[in-house]
Amino acid sequence: MRDRTRVIRAGLSASSQGAAFLSGPTFAGPFYAAGDPSSSPYTYGRFHNPTWTRYEEALSDLEEGEAITFASGMAAIAAIFGVVLRPGDTLVLPSDSYYTARKLAGGYLRDMGVKVKEAPTAGNRQREHLEGAKLLWLESPSNPGLDVCDIAEMAVLAHQADVLVAVDNTTATALGQRPLALGADFSVASDTKAMTGHADLILGHVAIREKSWAEKIRTWRTQNGSIPGPMEVWLAHRSLGTLALRLETQCQNALRIAEYLSKRPGVTGLRYPGLKTDPAHEIAARQMNYFGPIVSFVLRNRERAETFLKSCRLIIEATSFGSIHTTAERRARWAGDVIPEGFIRLSVGCEDVDDLILDLSQALDRADG
Ligand code: PLP
Repeated sequence: MRDRTRVIRAGLSASSQGAAFLSGPTFAGPFYAAGDPSSSPYTYGRFHNPTWTRYEEALSDLEEGEAITFASGMAAIAAIFGVVLRPGDTLVLPSDSYYTARKLAGGYLRDMGVKVKEAPTAGNRQREHLEGAKLLWLESPSNPGLDVCDIAEMAVLAHQADVLVAVDNTTATALGQRPLALGADFSVASDTKAMTGHADLILGHVAIREKSWAEKIRTWRTQNGSIPGPMEVWLAHRSLGTLALRLETQCQNALRIAEYLSKRPGVTGLRYPGLKTDPAHEIAARQMNYFGPIVSFVLRNRERAETFLKSCRLIIEATSFGSIHTTAERRARWAGDVIPEGFIRLSVGCEDVDDLILDLSQALDRADG
C-alpha cells in the first residue's frame, strides 16, 4: 500500500456492517474487569485504552515499528532517556537540537550522573563522540536551524560502536522520513506539530524496532503516568487521514516561499532543505520523502524582525510549527538556541501561497523601513 493510502486507512475498524470507520474516543478510568485481569483486554485507563490501540496501530504501520503514544513530545523523549540511560552512561546530543530536550539532558540527566556530549548536526559531527557512548540522539532536520545529518550513515557508525540510536523526527513527520528504516532504534516525535497539524493539541510518540525496548517504554508510560487523553488521541487519528494532503501543500508552499525569499534583498541565512541550493539538500533529498513545512531566515536585527512580525496580516505570530495555519516567530525571544537576534522561524501552512507571499512581501517592505 502506498503512503497516501496508508495514512487514510491506517488503524480504522475492521469492516463490519453498521460500524463507524473510526468510532469516537473511549473515555474510561476503570473498565468492567471482573476476576482475573488477564481475561479483560482493558482494565484501567492508565494501562491501556482502545482509542490509543487504534492510533498506535496506525502509527506503527507508518513508522514500520511498534509505536507508543505519549502525553507530549517531551514525555516521549523523557521515556527514551529514562529507559536507556543509567548513571555513568554517555548521551551524545546535537548541540542545535530542540532546546528543552537539551535542557532536560543538561539538567536532570547530568544531575543523575549521565555524561552529556554535544556536537552540531551538520557534517555528521556527532560521530566524533561515539566511542564509549550509550545513546546517540539525532534531530534531522534540526529545529530551528534546519541542518541535516546522514541518518543511515550515523546509525551504521553508532551500531559498530555498540551505541543505540534515537532520531527526533518531529520536523519531518513519520510520512516525511522513516528513521527506523534508515537504521535507528527509536523514532520519536512531537505529534503536536505537523503530524496532527491543526494547532489544537499536545501529543507525542515513540516508535521502536525491538520488542524488548518497546515493552520497557510501555512500562515507563504506565509507571510514570505520562499518558495522553483519549480525546487528543482520537483527534490525532482523525488528523492522520489528511497528513499527506496537508504536508504536500505545506511543502509546495514552503518551497515557493523559500524561492521568493532567496531573491529578496535584506534576507540572509535562508534555509529550506528542499531548496536545491541549500547545504542540506543533497542528504535531505536522499533520506526524506517531504522536506517539511519550516523555512528559516535572518533579518538584520531584532528591531527589523519584530517590525516584520508586527506587520504580518495573515501570518500569525506564534511559537510551535507544522499547523495548517502559517505562523512565524523571532526565535531568539526564547533563550537556549545559538542564533542571531533577527532569526525568523516560519512554519508554512496550507493557505493560498500567493496570499502568503503578498503578506510576506508587504511585511518585509515595512521592516526595510
Ligand atoms: N522535539 C522537537 C523537535 C520540538 O520542536 C518539540 C517542541 O517544539 C518537541 C520535541 C517537544 O514537543 P512537545 O511540545 O509536544 O512536548
